[in-house]
Amino acid sequence: MFFHVILTTECNLECRYCFGEALEDLDSDFSGFEVDYSLPRKISYDVALLDKFCRRDPDCVLIFYGGEPLLCLEEIKRIMDCVYAKHFIVQTNGLLLDRLAPEYVNRFSTILVSVDGDEALTDFYRGKGTFRRVVENLKFIRRNGFNGEIIARMTVMEQTDIYRQVRWLVENCEFPFSSVHWQLNAGFWNDFERRRFKEWSEESYNPGIRKLVDFWVSRMEREGVVLRLYPFLGIANSLLFGRRKELLRCGAGWINYAIQTDGHIIPCPSMWGMKDFYLGHVGNADPLRLKKVFVGEPCTKCDIFGLCGGRCLYANVTKRWSDDAYILVCKTVRNLIDTVDEAMPRIRKLVGRKRVRLEDFEFMKYNSCEIIP
Ligand code: SF4
Ligand code: SF4
Repeated sequence: MFFHVILTTECNLECRYCFGEALEDLDSDFSGFEVDYSLPRKISYDVALLDKFCRRDPDCVLIFYGGEPLLCLEEIKRIMDCVYAKHFIVQTNGLLLDRLAPEYVNRFSTILVSVDGDEALTDFYRGKGTFRRVVENLKFIRRNGFNGEIIARMTVMEQTDIYRQVRWLVENCEFPFSSVHWQLNAGFWNDFERRRFKEWSEESYNPGIRKLVDFWVSRMEREGVVLRLYPFLGIANSLLFGRRKELLRCGAGWINYAIQTDGHIIPCPSMWGMKDFYLGHVGNADPLRLKKVFVGEPCTKCDIFGLCGGRCLYANVTKRWSDDAYILVCKTVRNLIDTVDEAMPRIRKLVGRKRVRLEDFEFMKYNSCEIIP
């Protein structure tokens, strides 16, 4: 099982799609759910409880999460020293990666770092100077011996040209990324009316995905390299290995849960404080017997549910966007799946000729990449 360990709700950045949206969203209705806004700002339960909890699952993977988890350096060290986990992963904005000693950094199997594209775009969304500090820190941890996977984790919305920005990260960035995942900022806030999501998704994002899939497969053809562009990798994996009944691909609510700062367990980090979804407490729950929570309609009636998996449990239950607005998000999912599906004959030919290997399409699932953006 995978567990996001929410170490703190505090962050050292004020990104447009997170802090900025939260400010605009303060008074909005929360679909009738009761939310506990009084949770502790920092992890407040005994780390020994977390160890006892994890020891009941030999495959326990812990993902440090926040806020910004690296604001809790001492807590990270204590957990890595005292808690059993098969793997440790961190999802971070990268600004403080140089503050954690290499003996800890080098134990992460994966680091997901928030980078939205080139310097201008990343700094536009995340604040001036962010990109440079993150890139310097990534070079620093590589120099200090980190050899695990580094995934550029982009948040994508109207200012993003997906084709140009992903290509830039893998081809032009001075710290070239071979693993990239992106998530659409869509359906998470009560913001549809003030966005221009329709125009952007139809005129920029969906065509950009089609060009990007072609680029991805062309790179396999030219160089025998399968770039780890997670949305493509995840769908191609399902199609290659004949898995057409995927559950929610982020794993939320069935294989991937989150542990709040007070120790309560919830299906995903975004469901922070939503009391209707408290599934137990780290002090007494069995990690292998947690209640499962699945997406409902419209996903369960959707013809591509088996490949999409439902995109997002949080969006599905909170319905921050109306059904009509959410259809636009589903169109992006359909475009993504159709485009990868159309590329499969080219990919299968490359596998058949041993230009690329089937193993190149394998990855650690539920590692915090949601697959469906
Ligand atoms: S495409 Fe939309 S409706 Fe269909 S399964 Fe995915 S999120 Fe649900
Ligand atoms: S995709 Fe949705 S349900 Fe899954 S982890 Fe992200 S916010 Fe949670």
